[in-house]
Amino acid sequence: MAKRDYYEILGVSRNATQEEIKRAYRELVKKWHPDRHHENKKEAEERFKEIQEAYEVLSDPEKRAQYDRFGYVGAPGGEQTGWGPSHETIFDDFFGDLGDIFDMFFGGSQTTNRRRKKHVRTGENIELSVTIDLEDVIHGKSVPVEYERYTVCDACNGTGAEPGTGKRTCPRCGGSGVVKEEKRTFFGVFVNTYTCPTCAGEGEVIERSCKKCGGSGRIKERRKINVKIPPGVEDGARLRIKGGGNAGFGGGGYGDLYITVRVRPKPGFERKGDDLYTTVIIDHLQAALGTHIEIETPEGKETLRIPPGTQPDTVFRLKGLGVPNLSSGRRGDLYVKVKVEIPKPGKREASVLKQAAKIRGLNFDEE
Ligand SMILES: [Zn+2]
Ligand SMILES: [Zn+2]
Repeated sequence: MAKRDYYEILGVSRNATQEEIKRAYRELVKKWHPDRHHENKKEAEERFKEIQEAYEVLSDPEKRAQYDRFGYVGAPGGEQTGWGPSHETIFDDFFGDLGDIFDMFFGGSQTTNRRRKKHVRTGENIELSVTIDLEDVIHGKSVPVEYERYTVCDACNGTGAEPGTGKRTCPRCGGSGVVKEEKRTFFGVFVNTYTCPTCAGEGEVIERSCKKCGGSGRIKERRKINVKIPPGVEDGARLRIKGGGNAGFGGGGYGDLYITVRVRPKPGFERKGDDLYTTVIIDHLQAALGTHIEIETPEGKETLRIPPGTQPDTVFRLKGLGVPNLSSGRRGDLYVKVKVEIPKPGKREASVLKQAAKIRGLNFDEE
C-alpha cells in the first residue's frame, strides 16, 4: 500500500510555514494520543506514528526539501531504521516528563533492541481552580474541594490482573517486547522496530483482566479534601498538592493536583504586591476644616483622620492594613487617596463662604 503523503497527514498545504506545520502537529498529536482512544487504540497508535513520521521530515528543512523533490527521505531500497532525531526529544518538547508514554509506543533505541524497562508510569496531574475573596487573602483560608480522580483498584492492587490469575507471554511480540514492522514502498522495504504496544515492552500480558477496573488497575473515586490557601496568595497562583492527581500505571506513583487560586476583586480596592489602594471622597469644607471619616477596609471599618488644610489627592498610608507577604508574613499597607469635592453652595452657605472669603481678602463674584 502506498504511503500517505506527509502534507496530507498533517493537513497542511505544500507551502505551509514551519509554524503552521508545528501547530498542525501539536494539534494532531494531542488528538490522536493513544491514551485518549480506548476503543480504537490500534488506529490511534497508527495515526500517532504516522503524524510523528510526517513531522520529523517536514519540520527539518533539509529533509523536507528532499521529500519535496524525491517523495521520500533516506536511501531508497536500503533499510531504514528510525527517522533521524530521537523521538523522545520531540516528544519531551511538548509533553515534558510524559516521555515514558512515548517510549511505550516507539522504543527509545531503534538499533540495539534492548529490553524495555517495565511499564511503570506516574499518574496524570489534575488541574482545578478555586476562587476566594480578598478578605481571605489576609488570613488564609481552608477551602473544601471535591473532585474525581483515579485511585488504585483495590481488587487487583493496581496490577490489572483478575485476582488469582497470572501472566502469559505476549501474543504480539512473542515475549521479546519489541515489534518489527516492514513497510513496503515503491522505493524499497523500510523496517521500523519499536516497543510492543500490546505489552509495553514487558513481553508478558495479564491472563485475565480484573473485572473491577477492566485491566487498567485504576478506578474512579470522588475525593474531598481541604485545601489550605496560604495568607498573601496572589491571584493566579498555583498550589501543588503532591500525590493529589491520578494513580499511576503498573505501580507508578500518583500524579499531582494543581490548584489555581483566583482572588475575586473587591470593588474599590486595588492590590499591588502586598499593598492595597483605595479612594475616598470628602467635601472641600471637610478638607479645609479637618475631620475624621470612616473608611472601608477588607477587614471592616477604620477611622481616618483628615487634618485641616488637606489638599486634593493627598494619599494617607494606613500601616499594616495591606495583605501579608506570602513568604515573610509581614503585612503591607493600605493607601487611601482623598478626592475633594466642591459642590455649588446654596444661598445661606454662600453668604457664610463670602464672609470667609472677605476675611482672607479674596476676590469673588457677588452674583
Ligand atoms: Zn483491578
Ligand atoms: Zn508484546
